[in-house]
Amino acid sequence: MKKAIVIGAGIGGLSSACLLAREGYNVTLYEKNCTPGGKVQERFKDGYRFDTGPSLLTMPFLLKKLFEQCGKNISDYLELIEPDPLCRYFYPDGIIFDNFTELEKNKEQIRKFAPEDVSAYENFLRYSEKLYQRTANAFIFNPLYSFHDLKNLNLFNLLRINAFTTVSKKIDRSVSSSHLRKFFKRFTTYNGSSPFQAPATLNVIPHVELNMGGFYVKGGLYEIVRALHTLAEDLGVTFRFNETVTSIQTRNGRVTGLTCKNKEAENADIVVANSDATDTLLNLIPDDVLSSSKKKRQKKIEPSGSGFVMLLGCRKKWQSLKHHNIFFSSDYKTEFQQIFIEKRLPEDPTIYIANTSFTDPGDAPSGSSNLFVLINAPHVNNNQNWSEIKEEYSQFLISDLEKRGLNGLENSLEFVETITPLDFLKKYRSNSGSIYGTSSNSKFSAFLRPRNKLRALENLYLVGGSTHPGGGIPLVVQSAFNALALINRNS
Ligand SMILES: Cc1cc2nc3c(=O)[nH]c(=O)nc-3n(C[C@H](O)[C@H](O)[C@H](O)COP(=O)(O)OP(=O)(O)OC[C@H]3O[C@@H](n4cnc5c(N)ncnc54)[C@H](O)[C@@H]3O)c2cc1C
Repeated sequence: MKKAIVIGAGIGGLSSACLLAREGYNVTLYEKNCTPGGKVQERFKDGYRFDTGPSLLTMPFLLKKLFEQCGKNISDYLELIEPDPLCRYFYPDGIIFDNFTELEKNKEQIRKFAPEDVSAYENFLRYSEKLYQRTANAFIFNPLYSFHDLKNLNLFNLLRINAFTTVSKKIDRSVSSSHLRKFFKRFTTYNGSSPFQAPATLNVIPHVELNMGGFYVKGGLYEIVRALHTLAEDLGVTFRFNETVTSIQTRNGRVTGLTCKNKEAENADIVVANSDATDTLLNLIPDDVLSSSKKKRQKKIEPSGSGFVMLLGCRKKWQSLKHHNIFFSSDYKTEFQQIFIEKRLPEDPTIYIANTSFTDPGDAPSGSSNLFVLINAPHVNNNQNWSEIKEEYSQFLISDLEKRGLNGLENSLEFVETITPLDFLKKYRSNSGSIYGTSSNSKFSAFLRPRNKLRALENLYLVGGSTHPGGGIPLVVQSAFNALALINRNS
């Protein structure tokens, strides 16, 4: 039996462990923390439950395929729910837009606040769908590793994916109202990028949520981790928690095994690293494996944005809040300038709130709400003092939310917990505390992300949000499929 070692129990590591065990490998997974899931975690306190990472699952067919490939049925593990509405949007001028899966319901509302954009809304969704058709096989469901993979890059399609303009410019040309412009631009933040910098190809994301569906998992998104962990154990994967991998051993261009902080070296036929790719390439593999130009290139890859999170246990319910809620800022351009260029927290942020007790009443005591508040934040840089910023900014956000309609928030608070970009860096070793791996702020991002196999070493594979095809749960699952395809190609 061949021996595989997986570094990291994020979604990418768990998915890879399951796939490899199913292929007949003897798999051991090393995780530095005491729980599986990486950035997908949950927190219980005083009768409240919170997902502390993702709150939305898109493209669930990829998880379904993973279970199927492991001989299981996803519905035996997870119950997917589509919140109704999908999301409630609050604009600074008081307009509220409930986005539903039914097109007619959306058009009915748009007719009231942006009558000039009723058909533009529909047309934009069609355009987004076309982008998906032109890009998915080329950039997502394709390891893009060797010459052989380039056959999926249809040149005619590539000329029609708007890579040479930005998300924002394309949206401004397609819809007229400031309300719908903000609405469509926000999807770029789903992979930690700025709509004012990212190529318009990322306008594919509205299709992924609005046409294909955005899901919650009954019991919380952490159920995905529980399901993958159970599946992996059922397939015979051995888990070693609280074990930090300190180096990957190599000989003659091959990985031979790894060393851990608390354990002797262990040998392996293949290693799959779900640790952040920058950390793996610059700190875990021996210094002489990569050329200095490759290391320089890796250092230059821009990390995605990060997040400033507050978990609020509130002895109150607000009728205005649905499951997913977004409070837009007044000036989107300035907000993104502050986050991505000036690398600081925005003065007037767009605020996302997941209120899962709307769907899962057990997530908060009766008459109370569990609010997960997320602000797009810059990744960690030298000019920030997060312990100071944390106190100040949380206080500001609480009073800002009161002004935006959550009356009595401050007095209702039973507790506040804050997670900053520095916590994401320290806890998961993610590059500069980024939460989606690498940013897509350049038109070449898709080609710069490390592939799912390292060329310099015969048997080292890379999975997770910092690798191809990118961040977010579904793409990370796809990275595990890509790695498996490359492992099988190699054996
Ligand atoms: C606040 C927030 C909101 C998000 N919202 C969404 C959302 O709504 N929808 C969505 O799809 N995605 C969302 N994401 C992104 C999503 O969580 C990530 O893209 C995905 O979970 C990353 O998975 P990964 O496989 O890259 O592993 P990671 O989660 O990065 O896990 C890597 C694991 O490796 C471990 N590790 C690292 N180095 C070592 C080492 N040397 N030795 C041992 N172990 C090591 C880490 O401890 C960690 O457990 C969100 C993320 C955050 C933080």
